[in-house]
Amino acid sequence: MNKGNINVSVENIFPLIKKFLYSDHEIFLRELISNASDATLKLKHLTSIGDAKVEYGNPKIEVKINKDDNTLHIIDQGLGMTADEVEKYINQVAFSGAEEFINQHQDADGIIGHFGLGFYSAFMVADKVEIITKSYKDEPAVHWTCDGSPEFTLENSDKTERGTEIILHIAEDSKEFLDEWKIRELLNKYNKFMPIPIKFGTKKETLPLPEGAAEDAKPEEIEVDDIINNTNPAWTKVPSELSDEDYLNFYRELYPMQFEEPLFHIHLNVDYPFNLTGILFFPKLGNNINIDKDRIQLYQNQVFVTDEVKGIVPDFLMLLRGVIDSPDIPLNVSRSYLQADGAVKKISAHITKKVADKMSSLMNQNREDYEQKWNDIKVVIEYGMISEDKFFEKSDKFALYPTVDGKYFTWDELNASIKDNQTNKDGKLVILYASDVDGQDQYIQIAKGKGYEVILLDSPISSHLIQKLESTKENVTFVRVDADHINNLIEKDEVKISKLSDDDKEKLKTEITESINNKSYTIQLEDLSGTDAPFIITQSEFMRRMKDMQASGGAG
Ligand code: ADP
Ligand code: MG
Repeated sequence: MNKGNINVSVENIFPLIKKFLYSDHEIFLRELISNASDATLKLKHLTSIGDAKVEYGNPKIEVKINKDDNTLHIIDQGLGMTADEVEKYINQVAFSGAEEFINQHQDADGIIGHFGLGFYSAFMVADKVEIITKSYKDEPAVHWTCDGSPEFTLENSDKTERGTEIILHIAEDSKEFLDEWKIRELLNKYNKFMPIPIKFGTKKETLPLPEGAAEDAKPEEIEVDDIINNTNPAWTKVPSELSDEDYLNFYRELYPMQFEEPLFHIHLNVDYPFNLTGILFFPKLGNNINIDKDRIQLYQNQVFVTDEVKGIVPDFLMLLRGVIDSPDIPLNVSRSYLQADGAVKKISAHITKKVADKMSSLMNQNREDYEQKWNDIKVVIEYGMISEDKFFEKSDKFALYPTVDGKYFTWDELNASIKDNQTNKDGKLVILYASDVDGQDQYIQIAKGKGYEVILLDSPISSHLIQKLESTKENVTFVRVDADHINNLIEKDEVKISKLSDDDKEKLKTEITESINNKSYTIQLEDLSGTDAPFIITQSEFMRRMKDMQASGGAG
């Protein structure tokens, strides 16, 4: 037996590792399975180029719980390690990796999905770790043991099959990781789409009855490996290989509890200047801008990293669902660092462009269908227009402005349709809008009676969109239909005079103002053209926007 000391510069790193990431101990399993998968893929590569003269076969990774021994086992059939390699990769590489990680990340909370701690994360849950490994090279198997102190032992082992088994002696305070349901949940969370099959126990499978079997024949049941992952998820394939049905099936796989179908998808596939694949789905959102629990998931080489993608994808896309997989997003850094990172900015810009292009093409391909979906996607588009300038610049190609009577205009169409008869005294184009068809019906009817278009802007962020459009587009102003008498909003000469005397008008105004008890409203009696109403109550665009701002906490 060989004893040694791991080269430690931080006096005792193990207690640190253990304390570290207290809430996130579970990531040890992802790290160890990633290593097993890496080792298998490396062997695949070596055999394919002829450097490893062994049969690659159909390797899998097995995860096993042994309740009697309080151990958790991760077993692979990858390239394995020789004694020298254990010395080098485990005692030196893995250790220095862990040490570096801890030194750099005392503020552990910011690190994306706590990615990259590596092999030593095993000590977050185990008080003793063993490695039994046999290299694909013709060398004896070895057995490494370490109890969390800087000392380790290394001896020969009688393991005969190629590959590595990691044995974790689960610590008293981490017993949950000996629970089958817990492990299954973690495998499902982190490893559901990893490229090598992962076996966790067995399951019963019913064989189909042979043809011509007797009517009362019992189907045969057999015990098969329970493989928990799909090694070829849709996003790793080329779009031309996939049907709409395939995308839908993938959506269901990703969000088993989501019963409503998505409206459409965007397949991302970039290999220059960075690598990124993924599929984004547009759910039916209506006016909902809450980010629900079924969020976009971030992967790295098919390993789940996190579904907290703030700072990694543009905010407006966080309303979507789906998967983004990129080896080029640096994950063992903090989120604030990431937000300033050039690569991430490029990735964000690219995804934004892809979404804009997809919108344009959807609208061009089938405008009617696009119009029907508009109400369910508009919050994403409006949010994007407000927050991403590049998206806004392209939005004339795909943003729609629905009217209260069911027409859908593009910006240019809307302008063309109102330019001859909807201007104000300053010569600006007046875009009349309603935010609530029922509540503002009277005013809408008056405006329509005059032949004006009234568009419907009823999303929770419409007011921000209006500001954006007013400050960007030239010579337009938005006014809500009930902001003033229509003849004050839009320049027109015909006027229908009230028959009341001036005195009566003043009395009536005072009475009405008192009864609604709100001085921010104006009572109009002078001109009642376009309506049979005896008077009109309005609230100026300015007063209302002020009130709206106060109501939304003063944010502009
Ligand atoms: P990383 O995976 O980032 O290299 P780790 O700390 O996870 O860092 O692992 C350190 C090294 O130990 C790996 O690079 C690899 O050489 C070796 N190793 C870990 N697990 C295995 C395994 N299951 N089979 C073969 N080698 C492994
Ligand atoms: Mg690793």
